[in-house]
Amino acid sequence: MSSHACALSTGTIAVASRRARAPAPRRARAIPITRAASASPPETTSTSPAGARAPAPYAGPPRVVILGGGFGGLYTALKLDALTWPDASKRPIVTLIDRAERFVFKPMLYELVNETMSDWEVAPTFEDLLKPTAVRYTRGDVSGVIPGDALEFKDGTVGSSGGGVVELASGESVEYDWLIVAVGTATSDAVVPGSKDHAIPLSTLEDARRLAGAMRDVEAACESGGSAMKRDVAVIGGGLSGVELAGVVAERLKGKATVTLFASEAGIMPGSPPGQRDAARKTLDAAGVATRVGARATAVNEPSDSYAGGVSAAASVTYTEADGEPTTEDYDVVCWAVGQRVESPESWPFPRDERTNKIAAEKTLRVTGHARVFAVGDVARLSDDSSSDARTRNDAYVASPPPARFDVLPATAQVAFQQADYAAWNVWSSLSSRPLLPFKYQHIGDMMVLGKTDAAVALPVGDATLDGPVAALLRRAAYLYRMPTNEHRAKLATSWLEQGAEFAAKEGPGILKSLGVPVPDFLAPNQGPNSRT
Ligand SMILES: Cc1cc2nc3c(=O)[nH]c(=O)nc-3n(C[C@H](O)[C@H](O)[C@H](O)COP(=O)(O)OP(=O)(O)OC[C@H]3O[C@@H](n4cnc5c(N)ncnc54)[C@H](O)[C@@H]3O)c2cc1C
Repeated sequence: MSSHACALSTGTIAVASRRARAPAPRRARAIPITRAASASPPETTSTSPAGARAPAPYAGPPRVVILGGGFGGLYTALKLDALTWPDASKRPIVTLIDRAERFVFKPMLYELVNETMSDWEVAPTFEDLLKPTAVRYTRGDVSGVIPGDALEFKDGTVGSSGGGVVELASGESVEYDWLIVAVGTATSDAVVPGSKDHAIPLSTLEDARRLAGAMRDVEAACESGGSAMKRDVAVIGGGLSGVELAGVVAERLKGKATVTLFASEAGIMPGSPPGQRDAARKTLDAAGVATRVGARATAVNEPSDSYAGGVSAAASVTYTEADGEPTTEDYDVVCWAVGQRVESPESWPFPRDERTNKIAAEKTLRVTGHARVFAVGDVARLSDDSSSDARTRNDAYVASPPPARFDVLPATAQVAFQQADYAAWNVWSSLSSRPLLPFKYQHIGDMMVLGKTDAAVALPVGDATLDGPVAALLRRAAYLYRMPTNEHRAKLATSWLEQGAEFAAKEGPGILKSLGVPVPDFLAPNQGPNSRT
């Protein structure tokens, strides 16, 4: 392992500052260190009594620490584990840190909202997923990252050519030689006052559980109030996720609630392929979703005093339309699908894209100015300017400020898991003294869910869009293929085949009829061999 910047002393890491030039912006810091039990790499030092011989520097295998176990982080960990390492001494110890205990396959969160799948299908535990691998998992909330050799760059920012330390909110620290930052984004709660407290987003497993609970409350309130008591659900945000959510909620609460979708002046799904937009429009219309184009939510609050619906998630939405006059209405549930914020706090020492606040990285995914750090997935913004590549000159690390122009890659799972392959490969290349590969994105189509057996799949060539039950099947098959491990894929395939057989027996005839396809005897109700006379 080449330069390792952390000089270890009894119970602390003294992070030395190897400066490009004086005066340095940061002083050497002494960081208390407690190793996270489940992630501890081989002991790097022995704790020695005061005055005893200084501990030997770390000489074990390279330590790759991955922050965030989503599509970017988990898939990088699995890829690193699967790579062949011709020089066995270069095989790294890979530690994945996530604040949650489960990986979440976010595109299938809707299946938890309509309760057609269970938690284990959409969100398997890291423990289960990583069992067949050598990847270590630590549950922890990352609060800070401290590069071991903070250096000053020309623009006054600080970077690093070495490893460092990750700090967890629990007070523990984990040392790294190579770091992958893949903490993703979350729904922004800062856009509209009250949205954080009174509206329910859909970004995490907990959000999906809350939404499913709110749906159950609405159903229960309908039952106790009689069918005359039709309820109201608002979905704020006319982008892809708002439209998907509106479709799924409207199907679940059919006949029980009216769903109102608030979209901007640009209408629904302005960035999506036209065929997919048309399919969504058709589904929303058929489900009776009321779309308010140009209605801008300005506040979400407690429901008014006159609200007597009895649903605990109830809230009021204040919005303005073209005339600018604010209107306030009560809803039994308010779903929030507007805005994203990055999960890497300002205090993390990485350069940012000014517009999005994402971490600025080179095309190789290496964070600008940080030779041992890669950024992957939603949290990363790749530079479009190869001249901005950071370079190591003598033992100083000199980098230009982050460039102003950036590629606009979509914030999708597709991008994140494709980047995971490159991140793993580039760590392998770095450790094997090979050149790094620039990331190249392959668009493989757009999928959206519109109901239990309804989806719209925009194919990657031409303007073709498939919709309806065939698209729903295709979507499931694609997601099955994209599951993180063979073990989880096999468990899901078995479970889905069983569910599929039950579903085909129950719903198959209706679906085939709606498609104008003759219903085969074995699916026709009361037409089985035992019923023939
Ligand atoms: C409802 C929904 C539907 C979607 N549908 C699609 C779709 O159909 N197709 C598609 O391609 N994309 C879809 N996306 C987008 C896609 O899920 C994201 O782009 C993708 O998950 C990004 O991957 P990531 O690894 O960057 O982040 P994530 O998958 O969000 O993973 C980030 C991980 O970091 C962890 N984390 C965050 N902060 C910390 C911290 N401080 N300490 C420790 N751990 C932390 C989180 O717990 C999480 O596990 C959808 C997203 C949502 C929310």
